[in-house]
Amino acid sequence: MSETIAEFGCEVCCAPSAEAVWRDRATVFAHGTDVVDDSHFMVSTRRCRTCGQHFASIFTEFIDWKNGDDAQYLTLLPVTPPEADALAAGTLTPFRLGTLGAGRRYLNHDRPSGGPSRVYWRTGPFMVVEGH
Ligand SMILES: [Zn+2]
Repeated sequence: MSETIAEFGCEVCCAPSAEAVWRDRATVFAHGTDVVDDSHFMVSTRRCRTCGQHFASIFTEFIDWKNGDDAQYLTLLPVTPPEADALAAGTLTPFRLGTLGAGRRYLNHDRPSGGPSRVYWRTGPFMVVEGH
């Protein structure tokens, strides 16, 4: 039983080291279209400046009312050009992005309340939920 992982991106945007991609994200990715721009839930498209690979960026924040240590989660999911277009056009809702995680490797940066933060590649479907 082995899951086929689709190949996306290049050695810059999909480098084996999640830490390296995360550290250099400001230079690796060009900002595309803002799809959702709430304070606790932000979805946008990105593109690798090196290879042109499209990504969906999903940011969620959960306010920690008690301690002020808000939890933040960011997912960078590689998407095909038609998926990126559909996301920007609003015909692909951000909540459907989680199902695209099946068979794809995507970057996660987790910073739960109380820390520590963690950055890693993972694969498989995931839940897209609005922060609050
Ligand atoms: Zn790339």
